[in-house]
Formats: sequence, structure tokens, C-alpha cells
Amino acid sequence: MTATTPDQTAEALLRTSGAWRNWGRSEGSRPVFRASPSSVDQVQALVRTARERGLPVKTVGAGHSFTAIAATDGILVDLDQLQGVISADVETGRVRVAAGTRLHRLPELLAPYGLALPNMGDIDRQSIAGATSTGTHGTGLGFGGLATMITAAVLVTGDGSLLRVSEAENTELLPAVRLGLGALGILVELELQLVPAFLLRAVEHPEPFEVIDEFRARVEAADHFELYWWPHTDRVMTKTNTRLPLDAGRAPVGAFSNWIEEEVMSNGALALMCNLGHLAPGVTPSINRLATKVYGDREYADDSYEVFTAPRRVRFREMEYALPLDEVPAALHELRAMIDASGWRISFPVEVRAAAPDENWLSTAHGRESGYIAVHRYVKDDPEQYFRAAEQIFLAHGGRPHWGKMHYLDAAVFSERYPRFGDFLAVRDRLDPQRVFRNAYLDRVLGA
Ligand SMILES: Cc1cc2nc3c(=O)[nH]c(=O)nc-3n(C[C@H](O)[C@H](O)[C@H](O)COP(=O)(O)OP(=O)(O)OC[C@H]3O[C@@H](n4cnc5c(N)ncnc54)[C@H](O)[C@@H]3O)c2cc1C
Repeated sequence: MTATTPDQTAEALLRTSGAWRNWGRSEGSRPVFRASPSSVDQVQALVRTARERGLPVKTVGAGHSFTAIAATDGILVDLDQLQGVISADVETGRVRVAAGTRLHRLPELLAPYGLALPNMGDIDRQSIAGATSTGTHGTGLGFGGLATMITAAVLVTGDGSLLRVSEAENTELLPAVRLGLGALGILVELELQLVPAFLLRAVEHPEPFEVIDEFRARVEAADHFELYWWPHTDRVMTKTNTRLPLDAGRAPVGAFSNWIEEEVMSNGALALMCNLGHLAPGVTPSINRLATKVYGDREYADDSYEVFTAPRRVRFREMEYALPLDEVPAALHELRAMIDASGWRISFPVEVRAAAPDENWLSTAHGRESGYIAVHRYVKDDPEQYFRAAEQIFLAHGGRPHWGKMHYLDAAVFSERYPRFGDFLAVRDRLDPQRVFRNAYLDRVLGA
């Protein structure tokens, strides 16, 4: 009996596929095949097989990008079977994880080591490789996005070979590979610099819109500060999180009150409000004013991941731009004036956050302290006019769009907004000269 070669195994992994669509229902595609490899060898074999068949390959995480960055009409690969901790060094806080690991699994996986992600965004559904590849971030001027936590990576490049990138090997590639848009290869392993597990004390308050004029002072004064502004109102909801050691003691939101806030207010009532606003846009300003009265005026302390993230069950579409930090107040005033003048009725809040500068070549915070402004629209409302108008404001203030959120830009603009854009393209030419990992979105934002 002849042994099965890895490449025959890869053929066997290919399943015919139905349609794929993303969480935000803004993008979809019809992959020819899907595959869920369960080993790094299988990932390598899949890439070789794709090359031989002349099919592009795209890895998908949780499909939580609003852009078509994960879409493919070739082979759609998920790493759902490549999850978990590979090794952990409690002394240094360095942990190697399989790249398909979902963020919501990390608290349990890291508990034996007493470690945690230093910062997180609003949700924990993403895969670690998907989140870092698009520049996912939380808030806090002392903290970079998730990709800044990467100290080493292993990826399968365009010819199916394994490449290790770390502080000791191929170091010059780290600033590209940490945040590679899925264009450089399939990440199979990431090493992360973590911190001892910690608590966060959260203080949530409604405040006047004018708080935005003090945005820098507020983000400088807090570990993690963010605010939400409900269009058609003059109030913002602020959330200020302070880092505490584990022995400071938890004071979690009670189960009932948490259910009211997260399931009823942030999901159930929000869905109702958005549907009402969709059917009768004229009522949206009154609903938004009501929302500012009933939403979050509370304090609590809990494990970091419980405070950073919350479930998001109401589907929406989102655009988010990173601006130089000091541009945020002016851009928000202009956004408000634009919405007021437009006659649109926007039922979803605008979210405003901050992040430290970092060195990753395609990071939206590359080389500058950044403020993030995110605009949203309920999934049933057409976002285009609102997002296009908001984009003009963000661009005028030096903005760079989140790679996983909607925008209307292409490579010509990015080559001007990212000083190391050309260096990134050179790495892409080196690691994927035949464009095995290409898709229409990457053709648009990087060039073919
Ligand atoms: C409800 C919601 C809330 C969100 N909140 C935030 C937030 O707070 N902050 C923020 O910054 N963003 C946020 N996002 C955006 C989200 O974090 C990013 O779009 C992220 O990329 C999604 O991760 P994913 O695992 O779903 O990746 P996908 O969308 O599936 O893929 C994204 C990219 O990563 C690539 N990729 C995935 N796995 C690999 C791999 N193993 N190797 C190489 N490339 C890979 C894909 O090919 C694709 O190019 C939110 C999105 C949603 C829907």
C-alpha cells in the first residue's frame, strides 16, 4: 500500500462550498472550496495544492471584518482546528498560541499562567490572527493595537514553505508580518507579549458633548478612556477604565443588572430602537435622546476581559478612521454639523477611542498618537451616503481607515498615507510573488 502524501491529504481536505458572508452582511463570496486543516503540514499542503490548481487561498477568522478582506472565490481556509496555547513562559509573559485561537477562549487558556492580553477591543469573537492582521485595537494612549503584542510569528508563505519571524530570525520582516492584511501568508503561530492578569474598574457616565474638546486630557488622565456620542443629541457616554491588581477585589455588575444593560439595553432594546428608526426615521432623534438618559451610569470592577468586551448581537456596518490625536475634536464637531445639516437619521452611536503610536508599517497608528472615530449604521439602513460624507471629513484631518472596516480608498491613497507602504509591498513581492493570497480587496488596497 502506498502512503498518502501531504498533497493528497490536502486534496482530501477540500470540501465544496456554499456561499460565504461576513458578520456585518456587507460582503459575501462563493469560494470554490473550503478547508479546515488540523496541522501546519496540512496548511502547507493546501497552499501548494492551491498553487498547482491556480486557485487563490484566503484564510478567514471569525468573518468579523466589514470589508471584503477575507472574501475569496478560490479556497477559503479556516484555522478553527488550530487553536490553543503551544507554550507559555510565565516569567517573561511570552506565550505562543496557534493562530486560529479565538480571543474569547484566551481567558480560560491563559488562566493556568496568570496572564492576560494587555488591551482588547469591544468584542472577543475574532481569531487572534484575524484581529492582528487588520490592526484591531482597543483604547488607551499607553497601549498599541493587538498586533503590537506580537513578538514572533510562523507563517506559510506563497510557495508553501514555513517562515519564522522573530527578534532572532528574519527580524526585519516583523513590522510587516505583525499586521499583514492576510497578504503575506497564512499565520499558523503567534508569540504574544502578555501581562499579569488584572482587573479593571469601569466608570460609565453620561456627559455633555463638549467633553470631546478635552479629548486629549481625558485619554491622558486614564488608562483606557472612550466615549460614545448618540447623533441628534448633545450628550456623550464616557467609559473610563482603571487597571487594578487582581487582589484589589472584584465588584462586578450584578447578574440581573448586567443582563438588563448588556442583553436588554445593548442588544434587545437596541435592536428594537434600530428597527423603529429604520421603519420611521423621524423618531430616531427622540429615541437617541431617550437612550442617553437610560444608558450606563454605573461603576464596577471585574476581570479585564469582562470589562473590555461585551456581546454585540445587533448587526451593523462600520467605518472607523484613525486620526492624529489632536484632530479628533475638530473632526467630531464637523461630523456633528454634517449630520445635523444632512437630514439623515442615524440610530447608532459614534465611538471615539485612542491608541499609542506604533512601528508596524500598515498600522493605522503608525508613527503617531491616534484618536479613532467610528461611525455605524444599523444593518438594514444603507450606510453609503453617511459613510462617504464622514470619510471626507476624516481624510481632511489626516485619517487612515481601519483595514477591517468599510472605506472607499485604494492603493494610490495608501501610498501617500503610509510612509513604509512601499516596503510592505516589497515584502509581499518576496513572500507571495505569485499572489496566492490575493483577493479583490487586496488588489484594491495594495495593487495587484
Ligand atoms: C461587532 C464587531 C466589533 C468589533 N470591534 C472592534 C474593535 O473594538 N476594535 C477594532 O479595531 N476592530 C473591531 N472590529 C473589527 C474586527 O476586529 C476586525 O475586522 C478583525 O479583523 C476581525 O477578526 P476575524 O477573526 O473575524 O478576521 P476576518 O475578518 O475573518 O479576517 C480578517 C483578515 O485577517 C486575515 N486572516 C485571518 N486569519 C489569518 C491567518 N491565520 N493568517 C493570515 N491572515 C489571516 C484574513 O485573510 C483577512 O485578511 C469589530 C468587528 C465587529 C463585527
